Amino acid sequence: MDGKLAVIGLGSIGSMALWQASRLSESVTGFEAQSPAHARSAVGGDTRLFRMLYRGIPGYYPILKRSRSLWAELEAETGQDILTRCGGLSIGTADGPYIPSLLETTRINGADHEILSHEEMAERYPQHNLREDDIAVYDPHAGALRTDRAVTAAVTAAEANGATVHTNTPIDSITETDDGVVVTSGDKTWTFESVIVSSGGWSQRLMPDYLKAATQTKRIFLSWFVARNPAEFSPERFPIFIRISGDRSMYGAPTVDGVTVKATLDGRGAPTPQADSVPRELTPAEIAETTETVTEFFPGLYPNIVRSDAFPDLYTTDGHPLLGRLSEGSRIYCATGFSGGGFKNATGFGEIAAHEALGKQTFDGLDFVRPQRFRTR
Ligand SMILES: Cc1cc2nc3c(=O)[nH]c(=O)nc-3n(C[C@H](O)[C@H](O)[C@H](O)COP(=O)(O)OP(=O)(O)OC[C@H]3O[C@@H](n4cnc5c(N)ncnc54)[C@H](O)[C@@H]3O)c2cc1C
Repeated sequence: MDGKLAVIGLGSIGSMALWQASRLSESVTGFEAQSPAHARSAVGGDTRLFRMLYRGIPGYYPILKRSRSLWAELEAETGQDILTRCGGLSIGTADGPYIPSLLETTRINGADHEILSHEEMAERYPQHNLREDDIAVYDPHAGALRTDRAVTAAVTAAEANGATVHTNTPIDSITETDDGVVVTSGDKTWTFESVIVSSGGWSQRLMPDYLKAATQTKRIFLSWFVARNPAEFSPERFPIFIRISGDRSMYGAPTVDGVTVKATLDGRGAPTPQADSVPRELTPAEIAETTETVTEFFPGLYPNIVRSDAFPDLYTTDGHPLLGRLSEGSRIYCATGFSGGGFKNATGFGEIAAHEALGKQTFDGLDFVRPQRFRTR
């Protein structure tokens, strides 16, 4: 036996699972095909939105609260600035599909928020060119996560706690036996009591057929623009935002380099055959829609894309993650399928995965993320 637990893939979630597992056991090992936080994974693109306000299953709210505390713990433990606490705005048509359902979820979970009328929003955040019926909801706990710092901090903290890390070690196979899980990379073999599969857009290669059928790797692109006056788009003045106004939608974050601002079309994940070769160029249609939307939404940005890129993420058919054992008693634990929304909760998901895979603690109320939900369909 080479250890209690192996974590396969040290990206967004695997790095956090390794960090958390290293707090619980001295016998954890991480394998990463390239290096942690490499730029072709779902860590790429500088920042991810963190927000406590969302629409959908209330079960995410306790994980968000825990994740928020853990982001602060990771910062304290490593001395890194990871979460830029700049607040967040959800903007949209007052009676449209977005704001009323966001407020309904917020009413159920009791998240802190402030409703901004059209006039209040226009006065406080003139960077946004609103439509007549737009209002906004302010999230005081939202912010922008610095992705590469987060992942490298978690791996460094895990190593400081005694975890072993193998970089440039792609795992080819995992085979469950009565005694453990045999893990191979090229001609090397290890055996662990349990394994967490956190290989993001590459996870299907290590999955049983029932989960291959329930998942798809998708490409998500990002775009950046130059600000006419960058101070207006600094974290002090420009919260992260998601906006769905009529037929247009966009999300973005304040400037991190003092020049460019991330502003990207929302909900554009599209199937891609290989996580290793996601097309990085935007199509003419993507460029045209992005440019038109920025032209309308942000008079303070030059409406030419100055930087763009695209990254893989694993989506499930119901849009919720895969977090749990492959079957009851299985030694293989999935922490993948985050479907375009996993980073904000990476610390919380990582903690759940570490505790459950090491058999320390199980968490209730998570049926909506358990892989076994796909067995019955
Ligand atoms: C462009 C974009 C924007 C997004 N915006 C947001 C946002 O604003 N807010 C939010 O919360 N979420 C957002 N998401 C979603 C979030 O980033 C992802 O859900 C999350 O990062 C997925 O993490 P992961 O650990 O599953 O995958 P990754 O971070 O991609 O990590 C997988 C790792 O596994 C490694 N690996 C793969 N195969 C193997 C193997 N066989 N052996 C060893 N290692 C292996 C890879 O090299 C990689 O490092 C966005 C995603 C993208 C792509």
